[in-house]
Amino acid sequence: MFLSMHLTEVRVPARSLRRFESVIGASLVNEALGAAEALQRRLGGRVIWNVNSTAVGGGVAEMLQSLLSYVRGAGINTRWLVIRGDEPFFRVTKRLHHALHGAAGDGSPLGEGERRIYEAALRTNIVELRAFVEPGDIVILHDPQTAGMVKALAEAGARVIWRCHIGWEQRNDETELGWRFLAPYLGAAHAFVFSRHAYVPPPCDDGRAVIIQPSIDVFSAKNQALSEETVRAILVHAGIVEGPMPEAVRPGFVRSDGAPGRVARSADVIRLGRAPTWGAPMVVQISRWDPLKDMEGVMRGFAEGFGHTLPATAELVLAGPNVHGVADDVEGPEVFSRVLAAWRLLPHAVRQRVHLINLPTVDVEENAAIVNALQRHATVIVQKSLREGFGLTVTEAMWKERPVIASDVGGIRDQIEDGKSGLLLHDPADLAGLGRLLGRVLGDPAEQRRLGQAARERVMERFLGVRHLLDYKMLIERCDAA
Ligand code: UDP
Repeated sequence: MFLSMHLTEVRVPARSLRRFESVIGASLVNEALGAAEALQRRLGGRVIWNVNSTAVGGGVAEMLQSLLSYVRGAGINTRWLVIRGDEPFFRVTKRLHHALHGAAGDGSPLGEGERRIYEAALRTNIVELRAFVEPGDIVILHDPQTAGMVKALAEAGARVIWRCHIGWEQRNDETELGWRFLAPYLGAAHAFVFSRHAYVPPPCDDGRAVIIQPSIDVFSAKNQALSEETVRAILVHAGIVEGPMPEAVRPGFVRSDGAPGRVARSADVIRLGRAPTWGAPMVVQISRWDPLKDMEGVMRGFAEGFGHTLPATAELVLAGPNVHGVADDVEGPEVFSRVLAAWRLLPHAVRQRVHLINLPTVDVEENAAIVNALQRHATVIVQKSLREGFGLTVTEAMWKERPVIASDVGGIRDQIEDGKSGLLLHDPADLAGLGRLLGRVLGDPAEQRRLGQAARERVMERFLGVRHLLDYKMLIERCDAA
């Protein structure tokens, strides 16, 4: 990583799109390479900059890591800069994040004081960014943390795209508050990107908005194929399932630059008694420690169904990044403490089956390999979000042919066709309903297979990175013409 005073550059290795031939066939890969060549010609020497607020943790960092490497591999000069902010700045932006989801978060105001904090933190980042960006360059700013930089970069002669990865289909006082805060910063943008039509808010609904859905990288440490022995070795090594280690198998994976990687760290696990055995049915939710992911609700739903709709052999794993590991998510420690306090109140027999896990984040790819192994080993993946912009954890689990039970909210609806490629929980607050769906899937291996296979097909059709690249080409052409 390259460091200036505020900005950090994340170096992404270039990778060839050719490797996708084995997944989607040569003709689609040729189409993507042709598009990349046309884009390269259009850009001349211009750079495509991506700017966000964390290099690790959360869906945006996940996607940039892989997408940019293929863009670079296709000969396009793209770079990734991470802004720096202080605690008060990230409190304001987290509050904004909640507001755009229609939620009150910590209930703090979004007024003139918060605007001053927000603008002050961005000021130095803007000065540094302007030193990098040349007139004609394309700058893609991600999420509310960066919206305040649009005007300065447009004035510097860049074509500026603001991509908002979050949103809510409805409007309420909170969304009004959030969009009122952001609207003054967005006027100079050449284009906006949202994940769904329904997320485009009034200030952006003037012909500049484009819809692009996220994608996953099937070759990343997060999604690459792992043998069953390797999954076991990783999970035993990390302390997530009980040993022994399979003989002569390393907890290994392949890094994005092709080098061999190895899971060396253990997870930080809170449990009562023993780790789950390898054969125990396992329910897993993996998320940041964010109230809108409702880890606590998953635990309560599991507890309610335990021994009734759910077999008493079932284990629940709630896993997230190390609570101090995600720079722009200041709520992590508080949310984790609340989940832990609720865990302590569970009846002893249920508590023995519920495992709270903080995954190491020092090495992003090691973290990803553990997530990969956990998703592959899960009998059922849950994503009981109260709101969800898109939900990459759902896509990742679907790619791994897992049956997914997820809330019928936001971008999850675009992924799961209810009853076919997963099951939707229509009311995310319906804990008994979650217990019933879990019981149904855990008790029926044929249903697990059926849902899992359809899920992988769905991802293959819609959510792979090659499609995403073609969308980006269209976006940049449009932005150049604006
Ligand atoms: N994730 C991760 N390590 C963790 C927890 C989550 O790499 O310990 C990843 C997860 O696999 C997914 C992303 O973070 O790729 C979360 O993206 P999603 O769209 O589900 O939610 P967001 O965090 O962006 O709200």
